[in-house]
Amino acid sequence: MRKPFFFFISSLLAALITTAQPTQRSSDLMYPLLIKPKLNASFGEMRPNHFHMGLDLSTEAKENLPVQAPADGYIARIKIESGGFGRAIYINHPNGTTTVYAHMNRFLPAVETYLEKKQYEQESWKIDLSVPAGLFRVKRGQIIGYSGNTGSSEGPHLHFELRDTKTEHCLNPLTNGISVEDHVSPEPKQLAFYDYDKSIYEQVPMLIALIKKGDSYVPASPIDLPFEKVAVGILASDRSDGSYNPNGIYRALLKQGEQKLAGFTLENISYDFTRNINGHIDYVHRYKGGNYIQLLHRPKFFQEDIYAGFAGKSFLLNTNNIERYEIHIADAHQNTSVIAFSIRKSGSQVKKIWSGQPIVYSQKNTYQVDGIKFDFSPDAFYDGFHMQVLTIASNDFEEKSKSYQVQPDYIPVNSSFRVSIQSSQSNLDTSKLLIRKTIKHKIEIKKAVYDGFGFSAMFRELGAFQLIEDRESPLVQFNLQKGALVKSGTLISIAVSDNNKSIKSFEARCNGKWLMFKPTGTRYQYQVDDHLPIGEHLLTAVVVDEAGNKTFAQLPFKRL
Ligand SMILES: [Zn+2]
Repeated sequence: MRKPFFFFISSLLAALITTAQPTQRSSDLMYPLLIKPKLNASFGEMRPNHFHMGLDLSTEAKENLPVQAPADGYIARIKIESGGFGRAIYINHPNGTTTVYAHMNRFLPAVETYLEKKQYEQESWKIDLSVPAGLFRVKRGQIIGYSGNTGSSEGPHLHFELRDTKTEHCLNPLTNGISVEDHVSPEPKQLAFYDYDKSIYEQVPMLIALIKKGDSYVPASPIDLPFEKVAVGILASDRSDGSYNPNGIYRALLKQGEQKLAGFTLENISYDFTRNINGHIDYVHRYKGGNYIQLLHRPKFFQEDIYAGFAGKSFLLNTNNIERYEIHIADAHQNTSVIAFSIRKSGSQVKKIWSGQPIVYSQKNTYQVDGIKFDFSPDAFYDGFHMQVLTIASNDFEEKSKSYQVQPDYIPVNSSFRVSIQSSQSNLDTSKLLIRKTIKHKIEIKKAVYDGFGFSAMFRELGAFQLIEDRESPLVQFNLQKGALVKSGTLISIAVSDNNKSIKSFEARCNGKWLMFKPTGTRYQYQVDDHLPIGEHLLTAVVVDEAGNKTFAQLPFKRL
């Protein structure tokens, strides 16, 4: 009787141990590549306008490495686009998670055939396809395709994401079953101190370098601050074993003794709010060429929950009596580094008067001056600031209004806002108007539509705005002469250019039937295959720019 009882207890214990980690969704995932695990980027790392939502797995700078399913499941979605993920495949697993593989090259032959059939059905190369659940089942360890460098990928690697299937929130794969050797603690480099009474956009942080002393990191110089309500930010990076890539950290925690005052954990991030990265970092410091400083306190307006678990303003440090603070920074494997410091109040500061209209966070804001109007929704800004618009006269033929330069232009905007501009001229072709936005020599063009005040479009970034007219149609050029002879494998290439570099749509048809051309830079390409029967053909390309100017181009040719 003793023996079975012992077995009962030990199996009960085993059950307790395996269920003791409620946050873990997939306790044991196979690494998706067949090589030694190595990270090029971690989860939650800081990128322009988004958190990094997965892991970048090193493919040792090579393409076409086999990718395997980390667990049983089925292919649920295929997405093809020229930017972003490039060629991506999504697998749903029975435990309620989805894994995503981006920047891929080829998928399985049966999947490629299905995909091409759907692209022809929908007459679109760019596609976001839901795949019926039973169609392509995959087993743990089964090859699902080959890695690549497609989409907005800076060099070959596999971008891997783990999501909650229902909410589509991205989970940190390193704390949910993907293992990568890591015994290296994060490296803190700098502390940044902010006056919480001021807008983060209207101050320069006090930056303090950190040096390693014994087991912890300490400030290289005393921290004397001329203000009382102190918020803190940190510059830190992390590496895994055998990797020299500085990756992002997983957690930062501000403590006073045993009391936890503030901090963030990069564990679960939603795509809806990934742009909140611009509130999490000292955006202005980064904009002006500095590193990514991460704030330990919740910004004044913020939608993500990476700061969960801290009440009120507990993050504010006290300069009135000298306290000892610690910041613990950890990677996903709980390798931890400790920063120990104290601060003191020293001197006082002169209050700067900012000119311009106050823009208030968490509130609707309208800014209007002669000839231009901006409408910002309550979720547009993470903190307040003062806004001005400088007006610069225009004399260029295509420019139909003055140029309006927003100052400062380095304030991050969370949600799209409407810009409406009145024209200074009367001889307008109102169907061909665009708004051109320029920031740091980067141009964005949007079609402008009359809204009662002026001609308007939506933007998500400040800069200089101007109304322009575009009557020029795109230029379209074939790589073949009229009457050319082609055969299986011949590349038909169509070069497309536009005066405003704003192609809105491209379509090619052969004798009226849609033919799949693939965008590659400024060209659209098709390699002759079974979709083109032997005989005489007439290829028609229709290209439309943002203003709606349209170009038809035709090429008669013959397939041998
Ligand atoms: Zn990535």
